[in-house]
Amino acid sequence: MGDLFLEVVTPEKVQVSQKVDMVVAPGSLGEFGVLEGHVPFLTGLIPGSLRYTAGGKPHLLAVSSGFVEVSENKVTVLVDSAERAEEIDLERARLAMERAKERLSKERGRKDIDFMRAELSLRRAIARIKVGEATKGK
Ligand code: ATP
Repeated sequence: MGDLFLEVVTPEKVQVSQKVDMVVAPGSLGEFGVLEGHVPFLTGLIPGSLRYTAGGKPHLLAVSSGFVEVSENKVTVLVDSAERAEEIDLERARLAMERAKERLSKERGRKDIDFMRAELSLRRAIARIKVGEATKGK
């Protein structure tokens, strides 16, 4: 009966710092779950939903790209941004999604870096919309 501690850190703040039961994160090689006692590892994150339960209560965050380190029953998530559902401005995310889609439809001939940037922006927007809608409904 060990403990699992979750820390979600962005350049702006420590978004989560608490004891949790489990964490499910959008790894760059696929979604993965961590329970206490997990083998240590380090992986990249892609924009998506990060779920965790604490005291049996579920929590949901939209996260951007970053890294996760699992060690000694601690999960450290370092991401460019992380928002709880209630912090998400759905209208802003929908506009960001439209802008990203527009760029992706126009910029196929341009540098890969522009395309990748637009794709990541689209993923962030979709993640925010999914998480925002999960609690707000539509
Ligand atoms: P936008 O084009 O709307 O700025 P973005 O994906 O470029 O979207 P980011 O660079 O990922 O935005 O985030 C910049 C800051 O704004 C971060 O602090 C992030 O948490 C916040 N943020 C971005 N989009 C939203 C949103 N829809 N609702 C609430 N906060 C947001």
